[in-house]
Amino acid sequence: MRILVTGGAGFIGSNLVDVLMAGGHEITVIDNLSVGKASNVEHHLESECFHFVNDSILNVGTLERLIRQADVIYHLAAVVGPKYVVEDPLGTIITNVRGTENVLELAFKYWVRTVIASSSEIYGKSTAVPLSEDDDRVLGSTTVGRWSYSDAKAIDEYFALAYAKKGLPVSIVRYFNAYGPRLDPRGYGSVIAKFVTQALRGDPLTVYDDGQQTRCFTYVGDTIRGTMLAVTVKEAAGQVFNIGSNRETTILELARLILQLTDSASEIVHMPYETAYGPSFEETRRRVPDVVRSRRVLGFEAETSLEEGLKKTLEWFRGREGLDWS
Ligand code: UDP
Repeated sequence: MRILVTGGAGFIGSNLVDVLMAGGHEITVIDNLSVGKASNVEHHLESECFHFVNDSILNVGTLERLIRQADVIYHLAAVVGPKYVVEDPLGTIITNVRGTENVLELAFKYWVRTVIASSSEIYGKSTAVPLSEDDDRVLGSTTVGRWSYSDAKAIDEYFALAYAKKGLPVSIVRYFNAYGPRLDPRGYGSVIAKFVTQALRGDPLTVYDDGQQTRCFTYVGDTIRGTMLAVTVKEAAGQVFNIGSNRETTILELARLILQLTDSASEIVHMPYETAYGPSFEETRRRVPDVVRSRRVLGFEAETSLEEGLKKTLEWFRGREGLDWS
């Protein structure tokens, strides 16, 4: 099959590309390398089945040429990570809303099976446990930058569901804290990348607040399997799926586990949120996916334990040179 992966040089995208390439498909990646990195896909550049287009999904001309030739689209291109979102709200909103609108409009024009990557940020600061796909979203004021990402993804989902209503076979996957090899070592989108880097350097691990906030960390191999099932399972069209592990881990537990696995002498320091994100940041205390629908419709279950996944992630981090934050 001819498969287009938007954002295919990013963390999740490039791991997806590896699996799709191994499946013998013809892959085209469009990525403007703003968050993604050429080094994530350069090992495929020699292959005749791999094509890389260094451009933005905001460039409709390029996008149309690529979508016209595709049988399937995995749309993962987005500005992600709370820190980018807070630092560049305008860029985030434009890329995440207009970019997805472009992809879906063209997918509809050429009738291409599509999966849209969304996020557990959709649920905002909802206190529901677990979070099921049809649960209410609970967001703060528009003056709190963080929520613009959640709303941008929600608009993407509305677009996708609206096109689905017109018959387009499109599914939505909401990712829960994916981690694994190729995480951005600057830690912008991931506490795991940040803690691993800190531990390997012997720097203190910066746990915000009391560290009792929780996440369900999901190994990228599982994230990708769920994403591919959302394309291959026919009944998935027109539906939204949580893609995540349902093992809940506190940030303090995570910090201790990373110290243990890295054999690091780093200490753990607690910091107020404001130090990292500024005065008007709001936090999500617990975030656990309800996995009933993804299990029933997709037959999906996250299989990699946190310990196992962290070991694989560490292996990758250790193999990198310099551990540069810049
Ligand atoms: N976090 C932390 N220290 C850090 C970075 C993050 O304690 O240096 C916490 C953060 O407050 C949140 C959790 O780790 O509760 C996950 O943060 P991340 O940025 O990975 O993703 P989020 O799930 O918040 O989008």
